Amino acid sequence: MSATIIDGKAAAAALRERIRLQTEGFVARAGRKPGLAVVLVGEDPASSVYVRSKGKATIAAGMASFEHKLPIDVSQDELIALVDSLNADEAVDGILVQLPLPKHIDEQAVTTRIDPDKDVDGFHPVNAGRLATGLNGFVPCTPYGCIMLLKEQLGDLTGLDAVVIGRSNIVGKPMAQLLLKESCTVTVAHSRTRDLASVVHRADIVVAAVGVPHMVKGEWIKPGATVIDVGINRTEDGLVGDVDFAGAASVAGAITPVPGGVGPMTIAVLLRNTLISAHRRAGVAYDK
Ligand code: NDP
Repeated sequence: MSATIIDGKAAAAALRERIRLQTEGFVARAGRKPGLAVVLVGEDPASSVYVRSKGKATIAAGMASFEHKLPIDVSQDELIALVDSLNADEAVDGILVQLPLPKHIDEQAVTTRIDPDKDVDGFHPVNAGRLATGLNGFVPCTPYGCIMLLKEQLGDLTGLDAVVIGRSNIVGKPMAQLLLKESCTVTVAHSRTRDLASVVHRADIVVAAVGVPHMVKGEWIKPGATVIDVGINRTEDGLVGDVDFAGAASVAGAITPVPGGVGPMTIAVLLRNTLISAHRRAGVAYDK
């Protein structure tokens, strides 16, 4: 194995500590805590774990956490009424509705109801548009976490060839936008891409966000490339990524493991977005 293993856990811990200190500063200036509201519908075990760890991390950062647990049979109107009340609540800087929602609820109707200026997940079309046009908004947490890891590893990304595998609204597309913003030459690959192996082989940066265990093979990777594995796949062997880790690690320059790579960054960036929102709403400058 030759690649540097990118330690997302350590990077996330450092970011969370930085946010905790900045939160202290915000509380001293604004006289209130930044607040994050998380809405969970039903009792899906994976979603419940995510919501619990988000709540814990929010409190550990010195922020206020508002958890709203609704029964699985809540009506869409009731859920939207809750979103409206959180939009109007001065103590709430960020609103997150944990997905997926039950089938009888239109996810789009709910997520687009969130005030874009409290949409710390960055999923609202207004924030997607802001990202695409270079305006200040909220960037989806997972891709932003990937950019932070890449910049920490490589410094300036200007001019590098980047391939993003996956074009979802929550990972692939915003990832491509962020790499473009860093002046990479960006290719977005997906299920219809021809000869994915050779597309990947020309990349200095490979971001895999597919959801297929070990799909990206070691021999596809250009020697020395940086590989970011966003995939979280539950298999009989436990959690694995979208990249054949052992194969890729023998050729790559640096690679994120699964678990312990991109995953831990996501919640840290969610806290960062909440803190940024609190600063904006209080009219206090945010010092990165
Ligand atoms: P989606 O299922 O929404 O998107 C998957 C993308 O992969 C699609 O664009 C699809 O192409 C593409 N794809 C599927 N099969 C292939 C293939 N054989 N070759 C090339 N491209 C393919 O997934 P998400 O973007 O939501 O998530 C991707 C992965 O990231 C998942 O494993 C998920 O669990 C993980 N994830 C991890 C997070 C974290 O915190 N670390 C957060 C969010 C997601 P097409 O559009 O053509 O169908």
